[in-house]
Amino acid sequence: MGRELNVISGGNGGGSDACTYMWACAICDENERCQKDKEGHSRWLVAKRMERIEYKVLVMSNKGGVGKSTMTTNLAVSLALKGWHVGICDMDIHGPNIPKMVGAEGQKLKISTSGGIIPFQAYNLKIASMSFLLQNPDDPIIWRDAYKYEFINQLLGGVEWQDLNFLLIDLPPGTGNESVTTIDLLGNVSGAVIVTTPQEVALLDSRKSVTFCKDSEVPIIGIVENMSGLECPHCHQHIEVFRKGGGEASAHDMGVPFLGRIPLDPDVVTQSDAGEPFAMFYSDTPTAEAYHQIANQVEAFCKKSGSLLKVGPRPQHQH
Ligand code: ADP
Repeated sequence: MGRELNVISGGNGGGSDACTYMWACAICDENERCQKDKEGHSRWLVAKRMERIEYKVLVMSNKGGVGKSTMTTNLAVSLALKGWHVGICDMDIHGPNIPKMVGAEGQKLKISTSGGIIPFQAYNLKIASMSFLLQNPDDPIIWRDAYKYEFINQLLGGVEWQDLNFLLIDLPPGTGNESVTTIDLLGNVSGAVIVTTPQEVALLDSRKSVTFCKDSEVPIIGIVENMSGLECPHCHQHIEVFRKGGGEASAHDMGVPFLGRIPLDPDVVTQSDAGEPFAMFYSDTPTAEAYHQIANQVEAFCKKSGSLLKVGPRPQHQH
């Protein structure tokens, strides 16, 4: 099904350059007489890819390593377990770990006969990630600024998501250019989940993410406190490894909803490394329940704010 995609189209990212997005031309409604420049075409294409997606949810953090990709994966699995059609767009171009977390490491994306990128399917999820484009996963990822822009365009505008209820977008850590460009290209989003850890410094970090969302006019679904307390697997005592309450305190402080805590659970690491999402394989444990509860809140928030669908029938719930 389709040939392998292993190149990112060149160019200098925006401006009034000629369009080089071959797949855009293939599906362009006006390909005979199209006058769009490269930026115009990429915006048109992203809008086209997004028009059959009901809710777009950003998952973000101000720092790497707080569990943002783990949260994205388990949130996606929880929503899929509820019967929704879910996709993950791994925009974390510096550390694209989602494929490993769903056992799709080393896979390459294919392109369809109409020139679009076919997302990888795992655990009933559609997945697209920069990691699929790498020739060798051990290669260092050195992206020139213009090249980053190309990649963001390619991932947002190239992937044939088709009908989805939820698209979760795993943003790179921080509030830099990649996130700004992504949000700008996406246009309207349903909201953002901000992931943090419980230390007091988390207050400062999540404050930056909250301010970034407010400045970018992205609705905030809420803050999640990840790695919040550990039940010792030997003595079953509760240990607050990174202290507790930073996420909740910052949510309170910034006047945004607190979505809950995910404990520091060694099985989450084991499952992530094995490519078997925790919330699916251990669905009835307290840690998975915490993911499911957050998924419920994300779902409720999105439904309340309304569908972003532009065309076509509403994707059917699977059961
Ligand atoms: P980020 O996307 O913020 O860089 P990751 O999701 O890649 O962070 O997680 C970093 C590491 O922390 C991974 O090894 C992951 O398995 C682990 N991790 C994430 N959440 C938890 C948790 N609740 N309990 C234990 N380990 C976790």
